[in-house]
Amino acid sequence: MWDVEAFTKAAAVTVSELAAYVEESQRGEVPVVRQRPPAEIAEKLRLAELIREGGLSAETYQDFLHAFLSEGTRLHHPAYLAHQVASPDFPAALADFIHGATNNPMAIYEMGAAAATVEFEVIRWMLEKAGFPGGAGVLTHGGSLANLTALLAARAHAAPDAWTDGTPADLVILAPPSAHYSVSRAASIMGLGQKAVVELPTDDLGRLTVERFPEISGKRPIALVASACATGTGLHDDLRAVGQWCRDRDIWFHVDGAHGASALLSPAHRHLLDGVGLADSLIWDAHKMLRTSSLAAAVLVRREGALDAAFQQDASYIFYGDQGFDLIGRTVECTKAELGLKIFLNLAWRGERGLGDFVAGRYAAAHRFWELARRRPGFALPYEPESNIVCFRYGTADPAGIRERMMADGTFYLTSTILNGIRHLRVTVMNPATDDTHLEHLLDEITRLTPPDTRR
Ligand SMILES: *Cc1c(COP(=O)(O)O)cnc(C)c1O
Repeated sequence: MWDVEAFTKAAAVTVSELAAYVEESQRGEVPVVRQRPPAEIAEKLRLAELIREGGLSAETYQDFLHAFLSEGTRLHHPAYLAHQVASPDFPAALADFIHGATNNPMAIYEMGAAAATVEFEVIRWMLEKAGFPGGAGVLTHGGSLANLTALLAARAHAAPDAWTDGTPADLVILAPPSAHYSVSRAASIMGLGQKAVVELPTDDLGRLTVERFPEISGKRPIALVASACATGTGLHDDLRAVGQWCRDRDIWFHVDGAHGASALLSPAHRHLLDGVGLADSLIWDAHKMLRTSSLAAAVLVRREGALDAAFQQDASYIFYGDQGFDLIGRTVECTKAELGLKIFLNLAWRGERGLGDFVAGRYAAAHRFWELARRRPGFALPYEPESNIVCFRYGTADPAGIRERMMADGTFYLTSTILNGIRHLRVTVMNPATDDTHLEHLLDEITRLTPPDTRR
């Protein structure tokens, strides 16, 4: 049985430690990232001893938690400009806590009627935003699984017998080289193999160029994948043009909106997804721009039934009736977390408007970074950003070296990516605390760390 008194005490410790952690992170007075060697961390946290002997108490737990938090990566830090992972908002954090205590794996309705209904309504809202009023959807543990799920639905559409007979050898997936790697992984997982991913032509920045698409003969395309937006650059494909090309040829149109679908909530940015209503399927990660913790991703399909067909030959559609419903027929997962609650609580707290304003604010901050960098000599920016992702170079120095220096100092945490064969630094503005001051400071730091003879 739970010792409810001990739980209450430990929970209070957790809240006060996390509050202090978030506060000092937001102020930016501590290193954004620390990477001490694992052996040192294991010793500091007394891992081996605690695993062997147990015995953690409210007091020693506080010491442990404090040390644990101080050795991690701080996503609430304004200098966190790295991977596309949310700086989570607290309502979503509460949902994780609630799930941890209640554990209602609600893929079947009887295992969590409230959580299942919350997911259903969140999905209904997402379908409305995507312009799929008669559609269906489900939440999965992440965008990679969501892409696989959508492509399984596409396969069922192209080859209904594949579920029982295996994947026919003439099936292919059409995608640009800039597509997220989970797309080509899905091809292998589905038994098509990497060679079945036909690379579509793009411009220099990896955007699909529909006017140069080849006509496909001798192969049956399961789906064409477009990005909204591409992971590397944050740039959007022209969904209307690509979607029309697919319509004209009766090819399933899949939009990978893992990062960028949240722009649907910002009136000033919604146009980036113009044409998404032509899609047969769309994925949308809430743990990127809707500020939930990892993971919570939606798979949305335009036609009711398309998703149920992904995992069985004789699909029976899910209707929201008096007897409840089971989402288990739509997912790879069997047991599944209460993912809808994270998205719901952020929505319930901030409103659709609040989340849309957040997206607009971070996109504006990234654009601001682009403007500030462009004004400085030596900075090269290959494109104007459309989202909160910006790629750039400074002089001729090795961007990887600069990035590692900043991480070792704990001053900034960025990523890097190859664009047109050249390594670029990459900033993703995920954090509501990041403002002009931090962005200017980042540019100063990069200049300072670059040897003078390589600054041009
Ligand atoms: C992040 C991302 C994914 C993968 O999502 P995960 O939730 O990390 O599995 C897929 N596609 C795009 C475009 C992404 O940006």
